[in-house]
Amino acid sequence: MKPDEPTWTPPAADAGQPPAELRRIFRLFRPYRGRLAVVGLLVGASSLVSVASPFLLREILDTAIPQGRTGLLTLLALGMIFTAVMTSVFGVLQTLISTTVGQRVMHDLRTAVYTQLQRMPLAFFTRTRTGEVQSRIANDIGGMQATVTSTATSLVSNLTAVIATVVAMLALDWRLTVVSLLLLPVFVWISRRVGRERKKITTQRQKQMAAMAATVTESLSVSGILLGRTMGRSDSLTKAFSEESERLVDLEVRSNMAGRWRMSTIGIVMAAMPAVIYWAAGLTLQSGGTAVSIGTLVAFVSLQQGLFRPAVSLLSTGVQMQTSLALFARIFEYLDLEVDITEPEKPVRLDKIRGEITFEDVTFSYDETSGPTLRGIDVAVPAGNSLAVVGPTGSGKSTLSYLVPRLYDVTAGRVTIDGVDVRDLDFGTLARAVGVVSQETYLFHASVAENLRFAKPDATDEEIEAAARTAQIHDHIAGLPDGYDTLVGERGYRFSGGEKQRLAIARTILRDPPVLILDEATSALDTRTEHAVQQAIDALSKGRTTLTIAHRLSTVRDADQIVVLDDGRAAERGTHEELLAQDGRYAALIRRDSHPAPAAT
Ligand code: ADP
Repeated sequence: MKPDEPTWTPPAADAGQPPAELRRIFRLFRPYRGRLAVVGLLVGASSLVSVASPFLLREILDTAIPQGRTGLLTLLALGMIFTAVMTSVFGVLQTLISTTVGQRVMHDLRTAVYTQLQRMPLAFFTRTRTGEVQSRIANDIGGMQATVTSTATSLVSNLTAVIATVVAMLALDWRLTVVSLLLLPVFVWISRRVGRERKKITTQRQKQMAAMAATVTESLSVSGILLGRTMGRSDSLTKAFSEESERLVDLEVRSNMAGRWRMSTIGIVMAAMPAVIYWAAGLTLQSGGTAVSIGTLVAFVSLQQGLFRPAVSLLSTGVQMQTSLALFARIFEYLDLEVDITEPEKPVRLDKIRGEITFEDVTFSYDETSGPTLRGIDVAVPAGNSLAVVGPTGSGKSTLSYLVPRLYDVTAGRVTIDGVDVRDLDFGTLARAVGVVSQETYLFHASVAENLRFAKPDATDEEIEAAARTAQIHDHIAGLPDGYDTLVGERGYRFSGGEKQRLAIARTILRDPPVLILDEATSALDTRTEHAVQQAIDALSKGRTTLTIAHRLSTVRDADQIVVLDDGRAAERGTHEELLAQDGRYAALIRRDSHPAPAAT
């Protein structure tokens, strides 16, 4: 549970190539060019209006007051008020548009990451901690909020303000301008260093947040709590969490304080500048240089004060941009993950699926380093026939079943449905063709009806009820306090294993696939439940091609074909009688199974 615990390792994020990353970030904003142009116009307009004010001020001080022109004075004062009002109006509009654009970009990113993750192979999820994924979507994209909603526009607006102000300053007096700008390069250097420092800490902080989220998701789930309580480890889990959280404290403080002193120095220097300007102007006057009028001097200092805010925020915007680059990098990492189970370019669509399945010389390895889990499997299941796969635990039964719906792809050989390689089928056809009833029945936190309807969104209430009847679960549901509207706890916790399995069967009945993959329950069900489940399975299997992972030998007798897997190989194949006659592994399993004690899984 350390932050650097190995998870899915994506291609390394390019720390050394910000330009490519920046270009990619700009691309995210491309759909909103029009609105951004409006923001640009507003920014330009408000900068122009705001720098006009000091010129009005100069006229007041140098002309209107000394010459006692009341009319002009009123006009100029009104002009100053007007510029203040306009600057605010432009500012509000600009915030509205830029926030909308920013939120849209975040929405696009969230959706893109979610879409990408939906396409990721199962292997990705078996290797990544659940909370880690959630954290990237919530914390990383959430952390960008400031950048995408305000940083980009504040960058533009501050830059424009700085340029407009500097131009106005030059127009007033170039020498004073030079004095004011002397320190600028030093400021830039300081803020760049601070930016780099913060980026580094941010990367660490986001990793830590993801680690903490993962700990929470793992340990505060129903199974996590159960494990913690029954093992008496609740206290140590709390302690572990507290330690993770503690690490975050340090990182947060460091992240907030990184370069604070250096940035404050800039603030102090900026604030002290008027004194320097008055001093320099005073010296110029004393040494008999070209006179600077009081109006010019005051206007200049007011401009310079106006320069202070945008210049500092420009520098801190730079810092923030670098911080967010770290967040973008983490999001891009996810977007760049390779999806290896993809639809072919010209997928085959089958309108009518008969449901014939073949495994042709199938070999499969979970990864290159370990040996193959399945080797040279050759089995054909004619449409409507049943295949039972038996064998010891770990022999590869479940793995074999994963290859049909393409939860994994074969390493060599091929799996076909109606003679077409499953890798050539379009995803729609594949989903219509294959139904899976696994031991892990997942129920959403929603009503029973909604959970069933997930299999067929347009199913009528009658269809749902009919499916539940066939699956032998209707009576049970009808007996619940709210019937089909009963809310199912997050992991279907109110249902027992046998009930959940029948719910899964009802779902599959609604989907009505020609090919069925059944992973039989390993846990012993009581006789009545087992009978009900078996009846449901029989009803479901009728007329379909079935591939059953049989954990109990009692149910395989009637299969058209039985394959005995041993260490990934098809050790024996035939009907119940044929295999008994062979007197090999299957016969041995049957003999063992007929003894009351251990189950043959
Ligand atoms: P069975 O269903 O017969 O019990 P499995 O198909 O579940 O067997 O597993 C076959 C072998 O593959 C086992 O040795 C198991 O440890 C391994 N295995 C299963 N899932 C994975 C995975 N996601 N990554 C790596 N190895 C796996």
